[in-house]
Amino acid sequence: MHQRTVPCHYFAPRKIEEALEILSKYGKKIKIIAGGTDLLIQYYDRLYEINGWLDLKNIKELKEIKIYQNQMEIGAMVTHAQLEKSEDIKKYFPILGQAAADIGSPQIRNRGTIGGNIVNASPAGDLLAPLIAHKAKFKLLSGKDETLVAAENFFLGPKKTILRPDQLLTQIILPFPEKKTYGCWIKIGKRKALIIATITLALAVEMDENNKIVKDVRACLGSVAPTPIEIKEIRKKMVGKNFNQLDFAELGQLVEDKISPIDDIRGTREYRKDVAKNIMINALEEIGSARRSYK
Ligand SMILES: Cc1cc2nc3c(=O)[nH]c(=O)nc-3n(C[C@H](O)[C@H](O)[C@H](O)COP(=O)(O)OP(=O)(O)OC[C@H]3O[C@@H](n4cnc5c(N)ncnc54)[C@H](O)[C@@H]3O)c2cc1C
Repeated sequence: MHQRTVPCHYFAPRKIEEALEILSKYGKKIKIIAGGTDLLIQYYDRLYEINGWLDLKNIKELKEIKIYQNQMEIGAMVTHAQLEKSEDIKKYFPILGQAAADIGSPQIRNRGTIGGNIVNASPAGDLLAPLIAHKAKFKLLSGKDETLVAAENFFLGPKKTILRPDQLLTQIILPFPEKKTYGCWIKIGKRKALIIATITLALAVEMDENNKIVKDVRACLGSVAPTPIEIKEIRKKMVGKNFNQLDFAELGQLVEDKISPIDDIRGTREYRKDVAKNIMINALEEIGSARRSYK
């Protein structure tokens, strides 16, 4: 049995500034903990290696969803359950709310946070593709600087991000979408609940005033690459086009051609490519019918 020989620091500050001070003093020597649903599992056998904890649970400011001018600010400690239940998220960013509702089980959704999902940077993290699709920016604070980074530039690889040891992710900032923006979220896994995704798709399509021409689009996938990805070629094929004249089969094929997933226990490369094509077609069909019923 392992016996601890060094003292263990545990901090649970009430203010962001105090947390930043602790981070600037201890940096790599301290581990930030939010809900602990990823961290405690990853470190189960090695918890004795951690000699310092910075627990964010008392920082109220990080638990709020706020509307500010033309954007929504989501605190990093907002749980999946909060996202799932928020009327504002349902109204403006439905695919983010649906993705949160698909995470784990009620227990996990009550503890797990958006910040933890982002910083854990699993290629299968359910919120990541929706955040890129919604053009999210992440606010990173340290004792000496503040950085706002686009979600697509934050992830470097599985469990790797640009976050420095002295930085805290404090807010996720989402610009309000145009009025006629439609979204679709699809998660494929072996079961309906408590399952790590085999593949996910978050598709957001912004239409013009007349609800005819595609103004902007983001097709983002999870679990098909080391990081969540956007298929940028879809923008080239869709923007400026009449939605009714889009060739869904061609767009589905483009998604299949542009991804290069690996085989793993959850699915083969071929399976993922085939499913990616089909879920892209399904998502376009769903958006097509939501568009037709827009009043
Ligand atoms: C049974 C089970 C089922 C699950 N199902 C799913 C699922 O369906 N989909 C899914 O995506 N995930 C799933 N997860 C994974 C996990 O629940 C989520 O990723 C969750 O969002 C992690 O959040 P947390 O607050 O628990 O993070 P923590 O475990 O506390 O932290 C995760 C990492 O982020 C860092 N961190 C946390 N907050 C900050 C911050 N503000 N600033 C800087 N660093 C920070 C921590 O240091 C740590 O490295 C599941 C986990 C379990 C145990």
